[in-house]
Amino acid sequence: MPQHKILIIGAGLSGLSAAALLARRGFDVTVLEKNEHPGGAAGLFQQDGFRFDMGPSWYLMPEVFDRFFAQFDRKPSDFYNLIKLDPYYKVFFSRDETVEITPDINQSYSLFDTLEPGGGKKLQEYLALAKYKYDLALNEFLYRDYTSLLDFFNRRLVFEGTKMHVFQKLDRFVQRFFASERARKLLEYNIVFLGCSPFKSPALYSIMSHIDMTLGVYYPQGGVHEVARALEKLAVEHGARITYNQPAVKIGVSGSRAENVYTENGTRSADIVLAGSDYHHAETTLLDPPYQTYPEKYWNRKLLAPSAFIVYLGLNKKLPNLQHHNLYLADTWENHFTAIFDEPAWPENPSYYVACPSKTDPSVAPPKGENIFMLVPVAPGIEDSDEVREHFFNKLLTHFEYITGISIADSIIVKRIFSQRDFASYLNMYRGTAMGMAHTLWQTACFRPSHKSKKVQNLYYTGHYTHPGIGLPMVLIASQIVCDIIEKESA
Ligand SMILES: Cc1cc2nc3c(=O)[nH]c(=O)nc-3n(C[C@H](O)[C@H](O)[C@H](O)COP(=O)(O)OP(=O)(O)OC[C@H]3O[C@@H](n4cnc5c(N)ncnc54)[C@H](O)[C@@H]3O)c2cc1C
Repeated sequence: MPQHKILIIGAGLSGLSAAALLARRGFDVTVLEKNEHPGGAAGLFQQDGFRFDMGPSWYLMPEVFDRFFAQFDRKPSDFYNLIKLDPYYKVFFSRDETVEITPDINQSYSLFDTLEPGGGKKLQEYLALAKYKYDLALNEFLYRDYTSLLDFFNRRLVFEGTKMHVFQKLDRFVQRFFASERARKLLEYNIVFLGCSPFKSPALYSIMSHIDMTLGVYYPQGGVHEVARALEKLAVEHGARITYNQPAVKIGVSGSRAENVYTENGTRSADIVLAGSDYHHAETTLLDPPYQTYPEKYWNRKLLAPSAFIVYLGLNKKLPNLQHHNLYLADTWENHFTAIFDEPAWPENPSYYVACPSKTDPSVAPPKGENIFMLVPVAPGIEDSDEVREHFFNKLLTHFEYITGISIADSIIVKRIFSQRDFASYLNMYRGTAMGMAHTLWQTACFRPSHKSKKVQNLYYTGHYTHPGIGLPMVLIASQIVCDIIEKESA
């Protein structure tokens, strides 16, 4: 068999994982990445002794990473040192009320007992169901491609459907168990990891609580960017070439075959093209209209995942009452989701996330400093001027200082804001979304954009728009799926 020449667009986790898999299977792989380093959303920003993970900071579902590396007879520990966090995360409900979720599940049961009568028992039942769904999803649904409705609503899903809670909304499902607002938020906040809202996503995604509370929250020493570096190394070890500062500007199609990819610096020929860049960008910018499976009007009808207002702060002092992962979950819980998904606007009283990885990892901040990453999910496409950003930052800072009881304004020595217009320009993300398409039921499995173009025979897609969807473990699985299809179709 002649060695197929494959061009991969994008060195995010999806592009890099696909590069490693395909190089290992004997393809001649070149990756074209627009930016200067690997990782895409999982990029790295360094300044004055601080190392910031630019995007993802929660390492979840470690078994998916183990399974990925095992295909190369390797383990994650060959590349990075993974530690289990304790506590997994801290939640601020108000200035005076905080709780911690720890690896000791009995502590979570006791915590829920304090939230409402019988809370611990209910949590036990809730998590048992979440585990059931998770095991089924992992074994039957996540690692396979869906090409039709029948494929998705197959006998197994129809048989298991009621137990998978596909047709119920997450919020309603949680309310079946819990009356307490606090309990509800603890079980719903994590749906933001899937770019959705508890009022719009199916209760199937209660699996997220099994993932964060039972399976646990991990951290690769050095930061999540180390995972991107590991995949880059693995791909190169198997013969892939990864080129940086090479933005693709067009996929050249002749007949119904992609023949080359034009970059700002020249043209590269290909037998196969795999796009791991933003799906909307690849379809509507890199392809001419006759070759677009999903033209602009398709995207107009989709519910996008939120964008994010992110602030990287380097502080010259320590913050004693933070943990590695911290969440503030506001009383006006529903309003924030409305401001993201229904009436797009900057949220008035946002819930937000603050990472402080220097609590665990001395390599990410100078000895007496603290590395702070603040993130507020916001609607894509809202005004994002310097003025608006600064106003929002000051509001966030004032609230953070109030809730933690610590003043930090005078201790900031590094500050960078990264928001919608940066997602759009730096990563070519559609309308500045941070994560692509939200996980509603009708944007799950076969309802996500396909791994294979319907118009161009040898054009394929991976990444967080494709099944199974958003998140680092999910894009590793997406690449696994598409690489199996490519291998089969090239045989
Ligand atoms: C702020 C944030 C926080 C997150 N937190 C978590 C978390 O804690 N845990 C978790 O598991 N997941 C998290 N996620 C989700 C996760 O990071 C993503 O789902 C995943 O990284 C997406 O990978 P990808 O390869 O599909 O896309 P990307 O990472 O966007 O990679 C696409 C790549 O394509 C490149 N590219 C784009 N256009 C071109 C072009 N024309 N030519 C060449 N290259 C191009 C881009 O530069 C980029 O490198 C988070 C995401 C964000 C944004």
